[in-house]
Formats: sequence, structure tokens, C-alpha cells
Amino acid sequence: MLRARKLRQIMKHAQPPTETRTVFLVLTFDVESEYGSHRVGGNGVAASQFLGNIQNVSENMTIFVQGSLVQQNSEILRSLERQGIEIGLHGYRHELWGPAQWYLADRPLTLQEKKSLLEAGMEAFRAAGLRSPAIFRSPNLVADTSTLQLLAEKGFRVDSSLPSHRGLLPVPVFFGGPEGLIRIPVTVDPTPSLSRKGLLPYYRYLVFDLKNLKEMKTGELLQHVSRIVVLQETLGFLPHLVILCHSWEFLNQSAEEWDYCCPANFEFLRNLDSILSENFSVRHVSMSTLAEQFKGNKTDAVSSCSVLE
Ligand SMILES: [Zn+2]
Repeated sequence: MLRARKLRQIMKHAQPPTETRTVFLVLTFDVESEYGSHRVGGNGVAASQFLGNIQNVSENMTIFVQGSLVQQNSEILRSLERQGIEIGLHGYRHELWGPAQWYLADRPLTLQEKKSLLEAGMEAFRAAGLRSPAIFRSPNLVADTSTLQLLAEKGFRVDSSLPSHRGLLPVPVFFGGPEGLIRIPVTVDPTPSLSRKGLLPYYRYLVFDLKNLKEMKTGELLQHVSRIVVLQETLGFLPHLVILCHSWEFLNQSAEEWDYCCPANFEFLRNLDSILSENFSVRHVSMSTLAEQFKGNKTDAVSSCSVLE
């Protein structure tokens, strides 16, 4: 249990919060056709409907849009950008930007395919009259070094593809030197809990995605957040939470697996915000604004120990 030992060591020196902490909150939404990689007959209309509904949800949100959806939604995307919503890229057709995964049928992209699809995505932004995308989140949080190199070469500044579901410290990692990428993971509590799939026990990490957040009781949520805040401060980073939602989670779905999806999830996010605001001084920021806060950390040696392996 190397991970647990390392974590205990870090937390031993942590100071519990004694005053109201400022916590930067980034609401992020992956906008995709169908259900991400679960291609079971959804379509791009759902994504358009979602984009039409998020106008007044919160200030300073960030959306990651599949490149192939940009053209048909260019008008609403321009309007969202004018309102200050930050728009990043979420692959082109929800491909695999890293190694094969046992739970996905997708095959990994070749370097040439990555290059073409990244350029196609950027071209879609240009043709739609949007700012060139500077932030990226890979589908299924799978990205390898060649993807990161390409992103840096193409002028991307922030990547949010770290594999939070596999357990990592909820702090940024820096790739490619001062002009490279700031990698900010979707928030995860790195203390694992033991779960069971049939007879097989396995460790599960609590990722701050909409489904997990909806299943959590308020006390549990605050416990996780407090632990994450202390950990981030101990490692020299400003406390922050990056929450992951998907466009299809805000529409009623017929499949049982997705029965937590509904338009009322916008209300759920507002309530979540209220609960956090009662306990922390919450500042809503976009992904890029959050990344700006970490520029001073770039030379910090602590950042290199982000993945607990
Ligand atoms: Zn996705």
C-alpha cells in the first residue's frame, strides 16, 4: 500500500482549516453527441438542446466540445463565448487519444490521425468564428505523451485529461516546461475506498463527476472537499475543485443506467454551489483562469509527485 503510505505522510504535516477557505470552483461540461463512447443511438440534437439550456446556469463555466459538433452549433457557441463561457476541445468524434483500454471498443489513433483531427477541430473553431481553442480534455480521460506534445505544439495551454478515475493527487502537473501545458485533473479524492464487483474487490477513487456527486450525502461531500483542500494547500496549490458533467446528463434518458440524468440536474448544481458556499468562500472561475493561478507553481518540485505511483 505505497499509495496510502505516501498519502498519510503528506497529510501528517497538513494543517486543518481554521478559517473560511477560498476555493476556486470550475464547472466543466463535456459536450458530445451520443453518450460519449457509449454509442447507443443518441445524436447531436441533444448536444444542441443542452447548449441552448446552459446560458444562465453559472458564470465562468467551461465547456469542452467535440470538434464535429462545432459547425452545426456555431451560432449558439458564439453567443456562449460572448457571455464569457470558455470553450475547449473534446476530441473530434470522441476518439481514443492514448493507449487501448479494456473497457472501450475504440482503437488508439495514430500520430497522423491525431494531427489531422486536432487540426480539423481547430479549423472548425476558426470557421465558426470562435477563439482558437487553448484547452483540451480527451474523451474518457485517455491521453498519451504524443497527444500532449501535439497539443503544446498547436498552442494549447491547458489539458484536463489526467486519469482521475485511476487515483491521483488533485493538483496540477506541468508538461513541457514554462511554455508547455498545465494539466489540471478533474478533482478526485486520492484516498481509495474498497468496492466490489461480484466477488472481486477493487479500490475505487471518488471522482467529482455529476453521478458521484448526486449519490453523495452533504456530510460526505464536505468531508471529501475538506480533505482535498487541506491536501492541495499542503502541496502548495490554491484550493480548487474541477467538476465534470456531460451534456447528455441534463436530458431525460430512457436507459436505466442513466436514470440520474434529467433537466433538474441544473438545479442540483445550483444546490451544490449553495452547500459549498455555506462552508467555503467559493470563486467561480474558468479552466484558463484557474490555470493562471498556478503559473507560479511551475518551478515547484512538489508538482512532480502528482501521480501516486
Ligand atoms: Zn466525453
